[in-house]
Amino acid sequence: MHKVAILGSTGSIGTLTLEVLSHLGQDYKVVALSTHRNVKLLQKQIEEYSPEVVCITDEPSARSLHIRGAKLLTGREGLVEIAKGEADIVVNALVGAEGIYPTLSALQGKKRVCIANKETLVSFGEIVMNTARKYGGEIVPIDSEHSAIHQCMWMGRDEVVEIILTASGGPFRVSGIKKYITPEETLAHPVWKMGKKVTVDSATLMNKGLEVIEAVRLFSVPPESISVLIHPQSIIHSLVRFRDGAILAQLSLPDMRLPIQYALTYPKRTPSLVKPLDLAKVHLLEFEPPDKEKFPCLSLAYKAVSIAGTMPAVLSASDEVCVRSFLKRKITLPDIPEIIQKVMNKHRAIENPVLQEIEEADKWARRETSELVRLLNL
Ligand code: MG
Repeated sequence: MHKVAILGSTGSIGTLTLEVLSHLGQDYKVVALSTHRNVKLLQKQIEEYSPEVVCITDEPSARSLHIRGAKLLTGREGLVEIAKGEADIVVNALVGAEGIYPTLSALQGKKRVCIANKETLVSFGEIVMNTARKYGGEIVPIDSEHSAIHQCMWMGRDEVVEIILTASGGPFRVSGIKKYITPEETLAHPVWKMGKKVTVDSATLMNKGLEVIEAVRLFSVPPESISVLIHPQSIIHSLVRFRDGAILAQLSLPDMRLPIQYALTYPKRTPSLVKPLDLAKVHLLEFEPPDKEKFPCLSLAYKAVSIAGTMPAVLSASDEVCVRSFLKRKITLPDIPEIIQKVMNKHRAIENPVLQEIEEADKWARRETSELVRLLNL
């Protein structure tokens, strides 16, 4: 039997993971859950899944409400304690760079980490992969694109010459990002229902840029071997081209429960909750290259991962502040790449950084970005 800890169990990936675990049945037991501050939902999850331990990372929320039925931990230390605990599978569905600590602890304990936490791989990818290699821990991606690539790579990792990441193109695929676009229009994604940060990132294509960086780390390929392909139907979740010219793709209806289940059960495949894909009903699959002029975030991400070191962390941190500012109507959508570009230009990347240096670069980028946002609002 597998023992599973879910970090970020009240978010969109976390709740879907619990649904998948209920479906998988008795071979999987939930032993730990965590939330930032959605204590009400956490309490419901405790009653349904009876984990032994839970963590509330927002300390004021942990103090103000009390939890019944499970041992309560708090803060970053609580997440690390869960990662070191009895689970053999740790699902990291956290949002933000905090996810690095439990990820490293779990990998040091030779566990499987099913990862949906983008910042961890974008900012700390080299440290994460080196730790996995050194201790024998395992990283299996949950993101639909990286899951697709992981599945296609079974056919021969060393023979891969190109990874093709597909992107729906978001709501502004045709128009590009324009000054007049509101947060409400941006949050209406045509295919996936996700958290706010990733939905805005999908509209600017920064999400795809961050996924390019993740793919470089996860699959140890140079950025030049990764391309992005717009595919509005989101049926093909990514493709891999091999040395002999053959291309393999993974197809399914866009439903995160499939990549989540794959990350939990790999290398096994078991029946899932996802509706079977009927290609005759899909009728048409379209593809086009991304328009880099309309979506400058994509090139910024390629630039950041080519420079490497602390630069991807700067890109990611600056983007986080920009997205928050956009949602508060302090900046426009096209301001996002402009501000990130300025912050990146000002940053002197440190090569082969240690964890603290990445954290410092992250903090520096947040300060610089906030200052640029403030100047725009004078
Ligand atoms: Mg994705």
